[in-house]
Amino acid sequence: GSTIGILGGGQLGRMIASAAADLGYRTHVLAPDRESVAAQTASSLTRADYHNKVVLADFAAQVDVVTYEFENVAAGPVEWLAERVPVYPGPKSLAVAQDRVKEKSFVEQVGGRPARWQAVTSREELDAAIAAIGCPAVLKTTRFGYDGKGQARLASPTDADAAWEAIGGPAVLEAFVEFSHEFSIVLVRGRDGAMTSYPPPWNEHRDGILHRSTLPAPPEIARQWTEAAALTGRIADALDHVGVLTCEYFASADGPVFNEMAPRVHNSGHWTIEGAATSQFANHVRAICGLPLGDTGLTAAQVAMENLIGDEWERWPEIVAEPDAYLHLYGKRESRAGRKMGHVTRVTR
Ligand code: ATP
Ligand code: MG
Ligand code: MG
Repeated sequence: GSTIGILGGGQLGRMIASAAADLGYRTHVLAPDRESVAAQTASSLTRADYHNKVVLADFAAQVDVVTYEFENVAAGPVEWLAERVPVYPGPKSLAVAQDRVKEKSFVEQVGGRPARWQAVTSREELDAAIAAIGCPAVLKTTRFGYDGKGQARLASPTDADAAWEAIGGPAVLEAFVEFSHEFSIVLVRGRDGAMTSYPPPWNEHRDGILHRSTLPAPPEIARQWTEAAALTGRIADALDHVGVLTCEYFASADGPVFNEMAPRVHNSGHWTIEGAATSQFANHVRAICGLPLGDTGLTAAQVAMENLIGDEWERWPEIVAEPDAYLHLYGKRESRAGRKMGHVTRVTR
């Protein structure tokens, strides 16, 4: 009879609420937007400003545990909530994952290897960083970037003005990594420190947005799986993380290069709904509620998850007619270019 509070009203919150319902939990969503797709599945919704203490206190009083579906929720309100009700993942996971400078430093401390990088807060520092790191490089905003937004590529130092104009500071300049494939480790850690992770998908991006995740991964990724999973485990332990933690990697000739982390369920883990013994959403709920974690094994010969972005969801009548295709539409009222409207998972048994 417990109630899970979810900060954020997008599709990830909706899928957490759905998994929570399967396990007998009620969910209460706190979302700033007028349109919360999570509210379609959750038991109740508060439409609110995260900074309103009256609203936060009311929310805290109605829930037994709090989680979040996106990492750009303001740290202040989360810390305030954490003093009143357990919040998983904890404020430390959130603070590190919200800030690319903190994130890269933290990962280096536990023995991980991001691309060569340097923090940049002024136009002069950008020149110094280009001199140190070289080109090609990517300039990324320190905070609030997602789906490739908030980053600019520099093919040569002459792109510095345009990149600074587009991104500004505070930012991070990082070397462009030569990789054969991208992959992710979706890991779940329980309140008692127990950990398990999923087999890694091969993640293909288009225009900075995840296009497809495929399993089993090709050998270039399979060879780097153990090292990347071990690093993700050290990150989770060092954060005392509870819930799902996702780390993105580049498979390079010198082994896995850390790209970034998300302190939450992840788009590259959507395949687990039909393709794994326990979905990432069910395992996240198990972790934050103190239940034993479920089996993360692949249950099919092959699984491919493809995002439906912009107007691609309009193909749904064909997709729903395909055998072995599992359609998920998120119920968003308006489609825009680059907006994730749904996904489809194709399973080969
Ligand atoms: P999201 O959080 O939605 O995954 P994001 O906006 O935080 O995306 P990143 O993951 O940093 O963005 O970058 C998006 C994509 O851009 C990566 O998946 C990769 O394809 C490419 N990319 C980013 N940084 C680099 C790099 N240093 N070298 C090569 N490719 C990169
Ligand atoms: Mg990101
Ligand atoms: Mg990313």
